[in-house]
Amino acid sequence: MDSRNLIYGEWMTPSGETITVVNPSNTKDTVGVLHLSSASDMHQAGDAARHALTKWAALTGTERANYLYKTAELFVAHIDDLAQVASSEMGKPITEMKGEVMRAVNLLKYYAAEGVRANGDVIPASSSQVLQYTKRVPLGVVAIITPWNFPVAIPIWKMAPALICGNTVIWKPAEFASLTAVKVAELFQQAGLPAGVLNLVIGKGRVIGNTLLEEIEIDGVSFTGSTATGMQVAATAAKRNIRYQTEMGGKNAAVVLGDADLSLTIPAVLSGAFRSAGQKCTATSRIIVEQSIYEAFTEALQDEVQKLYISQATDPSSYLGPVASLSQHETVMKYVQMANRDARKVAEGVAKVDPALGHYVMPLVVTGVDKSHPLVTDEIFGPVATLLPAQDFDEALALCNDTVYGLSAAVFTRDIRKGLRFLDEAQAGMVRINQETAGVEYQAPFGGMKMSSSHTREQGQAALDFYSQIKTCAIYYG
Ligand code: NAD
Repeated sequence: MDSRNLIYGEWMTPSGETITVVNPSNTKDTVGVLHLSSASDMHQAGDAARHALTKWAALTGTERANYLYKTAELFVAHIDDLAQVASSEMGKPITEMKGEVMRAVNLLKYYAAEGVRANGDVIPASSSQVLQYTKRVPLGVVAIITPWNFPVAIPIWKMAPALICGNTVIWKPAEFASLTAVKVAELFQQAGLPAGVLNLVIGKGRVIGNTLLEEIEIDGVSFTGSTATGMQVAATAAKRNIRYQTEMGGKNAAVVLGDADLSLTIPAVLSGAFRSAGQKCTATSRIIVEQSIYEAFTEALQDEVQKLYISQATDPSSYLGPVASLSQHETVMKYVQMANRDARKVAEGVAKVDPALGHYVMPLVVTGVDKSHPLVTDEIFGPVATLLPAQDFDEALALCNDTVYGLSAAVFTRDIRKGLRFLDEAQAGMVRINQETAGVEYQAPFGGMKMSSSHTREQGQAALDFYSQIKTCAIYYG
């Protein structure tokens, strides 16, 4: 499969540099070719999105909703090929990938339904002959910049609310998820979305991402990716006074208290740490365990981690595939080497595939490092979790909050008072009792505190606030 750009309803192949995409599960297997765009391709997309805006914004919510419902139907019809392309391109296990496509379907339907919801307030005026009310209007042209780790769900949880609010979109996906992006855009096009409403431009963030943010007439930007890039995006947008949201990194903790039910806790901690090979912004990468249960927890964890195996992403029984790319593998392996040097191994999974075949990293739990060690402070974004003992609940909470990030945090306990205190005091945008750190529902607001997010939330109703602006209207009828 070759990548193409979708600009004003036309598929175009840029004439610049190309990159061969290899399957991270088996690097001898070529999946496709990416044709990288230049600044001039991005400018064309900018013109297309601006040109399509007036007509799209003038449609009723019901009319816009019909395109989202149709796209949702097409996602269901094409779930197998969509999941297959994504698994082959970025290594997420196929069964998990199909779940991700279904999440996208639910998001499309959820935001389609918002097209007909009353969305303003009537505010009493000082005169009885004045009707005063608020209404939502679109931002205009929005830039959507997405990472590779949720190649379908993240673009949809941005684009569906952006489109239903009447914005037009320029989408710059991550390089390692570009073929999936082409499939997604094809389905929007098949649903009959008017030309220019969604424009897809494939290429490098440092090249066309910068063009998009610095040169194109955009009215908003929604970014998900690393904290380092997100800070640059925010700075550029702030200089231009463009509305922005940046969803960034995490270093999420699961806190296991002495009274935790281990039969519930262990699967939730493992799923949080190792599903998607630990490449979720909400992945559990610190496991903080109260001393009184430390030994029992460690033994139970060892038993279960030893049953985890890595396998090719397209294996329907795969729990853990490879990491997404060579560069991702190199980064994660630096932490594995650090763990081999500085930490003590608690448990490691097994390989059901020759690890040399692709970008595989064995699931690993380590301990014995200080709280200032990079294994405890850095976002690793791979299947490596660090176990930290805590004397009591207070120390566990302090360790949980001892990070620059604040995306997600979970506590495992049977004591509702401690649980509720954790919900109050854990410094994270998403806090949970007896649930893994990953896997937040689409109808609820998603986002973090501290260095994990800027000032907005995604998904749920919160997304509609981001993608629209409020006008206060007054009518004198005396
Ligand atoms: P990344 O920051 O490298 O890239 C994200 C996107 O930004 C890509 O499309 C990339 O091409 C683009 N980009 C890169 N440089 C750019 C620039 N100068 N200008 C404009 N765009 C640019 O992140 P990644 O490696 O793709 O994703 C992994 C990161 O994403 C992790 O840190 C993870 O925690 C984070 N993430 C966060 C959330 C969340 O909701 N908080 C969700 C998923 C992933």
